Parts: sequence; C-alpha cells; structure tokens
Amino acid sequence: MSSTTDQTILSQDIEEIVELFAVTPTDTPTSDAERATKLESPKFGTVFTDHMARISWRRDEGWVHRRVEKYGPLQLDPATAVLHYGQEIFEGMKAYRHADGSVWTFRPEENAARMARSAHRLALPALPVDDFIAACAALVRTDLAWVPKAPDSSLYLRPFTFASEPFLGVRPSDQVEFLVIASPAGAYFSGGVKPVSIWVDAEFHRAGPGGTGAAKCGGNYAASLLPQEEAAAKGFDQVCFLDGGSNTYIDELGGMNVFFVMDDGSVHTPELTGSILEGVTRSSILRLAADRGREVVERRIPLAEVVEGLRTGRIVEMFACGTAAVVTPVGRLAGETFDSQIGGGAPGELTMAIREELTDIQYGRLPDRHGWLRRLA
Ligand SMILES: *Cc1c(COP(=O)(O)O)cnc(C)c1O
Repeated sequence: MSSTTDQTILSQDIEEIVELFAVTPTDTPTSDAERATKLESPKFGTVFTDHMARISWRRDEGWVHRRVEKYGPLQLDPATAVLHYGQEIFEGMKAYRHADGSVWTFRPEENAARMARSAHRLALPALPVDDFIAACAALVRTDLAWVPKAPDSSLYLRPFTFASEPFLGVRPSDQVEFLVIASPAGAYFSGGVKPVSIWVDAEFHRAGPGGTGAAKCGGNYAASLLPQEEAAAKGFDQVCFLDGGSNTYIDELGGMNVFFVMDDGSVHTPELTGSILEGVTRSSILRLAADRGREVVERRIPLAEVVEGLRTGRIVEMFACGTAAVVTPVGRLAGETFDSQIGGGAPGELTMAIREELTDIQYGRLPDRHGWLRRLA
C-alpha cells in the first residue's frame, strides 16, 4: 500500500475505539421505502437518521459510556446548565458517497482539534481527537444507508457537546454530553450556484476582542440572529460582521469565512484575530489557491478598502465559504453608506474553479493530493 493510501484509512487506534461503541439498534427503523422518500430532496437540517452516537463525561470519571443509540429526544432537567448559561459547542462536517459506494469525510482531525479548542474556551472538557473521529465513524457505519447517492448530496454530521448537569450555580458543569447526529443534505444550490447578497452590519457584532468568536459555540450564533433577521427584512441573504474592537475591519459572516480576489490575481482573506472562526474550508481554499500559483494573503482587511476596491475594480470577486455551502459567490455587498454589485450577477471565475476543485476532491472525482479524505465506510 502506498503511503497516500495509508493516510486515508482510519488509524488502528481509531478503529479500536470504534469497537468500544455499544450499538443498540433502534426499535423503530425507517423502512427502505420511507428512507428513499426522505432522501429525495431533504430540506437542510430537517431529516435525521435512525441513530445518534454519544459519549458522556463526568468530572471524576472522564469520557465514558461510548454508544450508538436510537435517535430521539433527550430528557433534560429544567435546571440543566446549558439551558441557562449556554455552555455548548458544536462542529459541522459531511460524509460523502463516492462513485464506488465508499463513504468518506474531509479533514476530520481539523474539526476534532477545533472542537477541543472550542471546549477549552467554553470551559468544557476536550474530547480526544480519536474519540471524535471514532464516534463519527460508528454513527456513519450504523446509518450507512442514509448517506445519499445523488450528485452533490451528503450526510451532514453535527457533533456537539453541552453542559448537562442540573445545577444553577455559575461554574463549569461537572457533567457533559457529547453527541453526533446526522442529517442527509441535498445539493445546497438546487438549480445552479447563485450569487448571494450581503449586508455589512455596523451596529451589531457576533464576537468581540477576547470573546468567543474563534470558538464554534451556539452563543455566537444566538448573537447573529437578530442582525440576520434585520438584514433579511432589508432583502439581503446574509450578514457580514465587522471586528468588534474598531468596527473597521471585515471579520466574517455569521457562519462562513470570506475571501476577496484582486485584479492582480491575488487572493485575500481576513487574518485570524481571535474573533474569526478558523474554517476548515478557509484553510483548504488557501492551500488550493496557493497550489494554483496565486498569491494568498491573510491580513486585516478594512471595510473602507473593500468599498473602494469594488468601486475601482481592484476587487474582482468575493465569496464566502464553509462546510455546508462549500463556496458561495457574493454578488452584492451593501451597508448604510454603499451598495456595490460584484461581477454583474455572475459568479466569479476563480470562485467557481475553486468550488469545483474542492468538491471534486471531496467526492473522489479528483485525486486527494493533500491526503485530506478519511474513509469511514
Ligand atoms: C463553522 C463556521 C465557519 C466555517 O467553518 P468550516 O470549517 O469551513 O465549515 C465559518 N464561520 C463560522 C462563524 C462558523 O461557525
């Protein structure tokens, strides 16, 4: 076996942890016919598979009781800490079906490591990387029939960790649950990739200096909902947030990082300042753009420079990126004092080339030259 192939299978250590998961099959399995109907055109995040993976944590025992059990409601005491103080973190990944039927995921070590960093910031226990990947593998293998086969569809994986101790005192929880649930997802853009419109919010922030912006936690999303709702009322698809310290630099969207392509071919994205979420898609795109010989620049990007760059034509493309939508072209960027069209309504050339290359790697249509894929089943 070549070394590239070795890299793509799960390590023996992870396989041994997968074996530790006690699988209790659901007593109400979805029939093949019903599953086929549910897989036809699932609306994002509304359909779930039959099972969920789970690991519990107790301060005096550590991570215990690895299992795969029936998907279903959790019974929580009304005093459960997460319901009061929001001690919660999550991840988002996908399992991709390749043409030969095998199922793969993309750079899961990065998501596992990020969840450990998020855990640290939220004073939650860090789940070891191997346990995180093993839990995803155990769930995907149990619910393998739920991994869709249609083009650009996937099984979205949502690992999350929350404070489960019933206690109203303000301190880190002594009990924590880690779960992975899975939701079949159709092509994000049905009917072709369409550029989105973005409102730059100068009033609200999703994160601030020293806050939780670099952690993937529910609280950041809670902070983004009102601005998102207000932007939607103005007719915009998404909100772009500025840095909470000076209200001057571009940070990111509520759930996606942003990139700009300049007229000299260089590719720029806001540098990681502590208030920006370090996207796996972001880091993969930086690599793919550099591989194409593009100059890639991570730096603080002032909104004023972007407004000017869109006016003069120095900025030729803008896109947002994240696991769910992969790469989304931005066709309009507006704020209180400006309103700019980008690319005349058509997606940018590099934007679409990178989108295609990344999805081709994820779906096994191009060689995985960076060893990013891991075979789950
Ligand atoms: C999850 C997320 C992203 C995208 O991260 P990926 O690893 O690329 O999916 C970007 N910004 C925020 C705020 C996020 O929560």
